[in-house]
Amino acid sequence: MHYPDLPLPDEGNWTVVAPGVYWVRMPLPFELDHINLYLLEDSNGWYIVDTGLGTSKTKALWDQIIGRLEKPVVGVVVTHLHPDHIGLAGWLTEKYRVPLYISQLEYFMARSLVAGRNGASSLPDKIYFERAGLPPEHIEMLTSGGKGFGSVVTPVPVAYQRLRQGSCLSINGNTWKVMIGRGHSPEHACLYCEKLNVLISGDHILPSITPNIGVYSTEPEGNTLKDYLDTLPVFAELPPDTLVLPAHKQPFIGIQQRVSELINHHHEQLRCLLEACEIPSCVMSLLPVLFKRELNVRTQMFAIAECMSHLNYLLAEGKLTRSVGEDNKYYYKSRV
Ligand SMILES: [Zn+2]
Repeated sequence: MHYPDLPLPDEGNWTVVAPGVYWVRMPLPFELDHINLYLLEDSNGWYIVDTGLGTSKTKALWDQIIGRLEKPVVGVVVTHLHPDHIGLAGWLTEKYRVPLYISQLEYFMARSLVAGRNGASSLPDKIYFERAGLPPEHIEMLTSGGKGFGSVVTPVPVAYQRLRQGSCLSINGNTWKVMIGRGHSPEHACLYCEKLNVLISGDHILPSITPNIGVYSTEPEGNTLKDYLDTLPVFAELPPDTLVLPAHKQPFIGIQQRVSELINHHHEQLRCLLEACEIPSCVMSLLPVLFKRELNVRTQMFAIAECMSHLNYLLAEGKLTRSVGEDNKYYYKSRV
C-alpha cells in the first residue's frame, strides 16, 4: 500500500488527482479535523461529490472554490448521510438548482433524522444506553434535547435522483459505476471509474483509520458488522493499481491490502471480545478491550456503538450469550 505523491490541497484550493478529478479538503471541528471531497468535470460543468458540514466556514470555502471553476455546478453526489458528507447538499443543490444524487436508504434516513423524533418518546434511546451500562447522569445528558443532526445539515432537498448498486453516472465520457457498501451507513455509495482507474470510496474504505461500524438505538439488534464484512471483499477485486480516493486521510494505492487489513482488524477485535467475555461483561467494561486510547463523551458514543456491532455479530454467530442483569445492563458471556 502506498500514497502517491500528491500535495495536500490548501483550504479553498484543489489538487488534480486524475484527468477531470479534483481533490478538495474542508475543515471539521472534531478530532478528525478534515474531510476530502471531490469534483468531477463534465463537458458542461462540475459534479460535487460530498459537501462538508453545514457551517458558514464551509459555505465560504465552497463560494471561493466554485468562483474559480470556469464551468457551473451541474450536480451534487452524496456518498452517505453523515453530516460531514450531506451537510451542504441542500444549500448547494438549491443555490445552483441542480439534482442531488444519493442512494434511497441514505436519502430517506437523512430526511428522517432532519425531521427528528416528532414527539415520539426517547425511551428506546434511554434503554439502549442503560443496557450498555452508562451511568444515569450521562444517559440524561445524551438523550435530552439537542438539535444534533439538523444543526450541522442544511435542509435536505425534498427530491433526489437515486443511486443504486451497479447504476452508472456518465461524466465527460467516463462511466462512474455505483458500488454499494453497507455497515458504516445503510447504503453507502462508492463510485468506480474503470477508465480512469479511480475509486471514490467515501467512508467505506479509509487508509490508516478504520471506518466506524456502529449499532445505534434506532436498530439496537442490527448486525452492521456483518453488513460491512459482506460488502467489503468485492472491492478487493478491483485492479491492484486503482487510485482510491477516501473521505478522510490521503488518496492511496493498494486496495487489496487495505481490504484485508480491515477484515483482519474486525476479526481480531471479535477474538479479543470473545476472550474478554469468558467473564460475563457489560459494554462499558468491554470498551478498553477495543479502544486503547482515552475516550471523550463524543468518542465514547461511537465506541459504544462499535462495541455493540461486534457483540451483535458474535451473538448472531451463536458465540456469545446475552442476559439482562439486575442493574438493567446487558451482560455478555462467551459460549465455551
Ligand atoms: Zn461516515
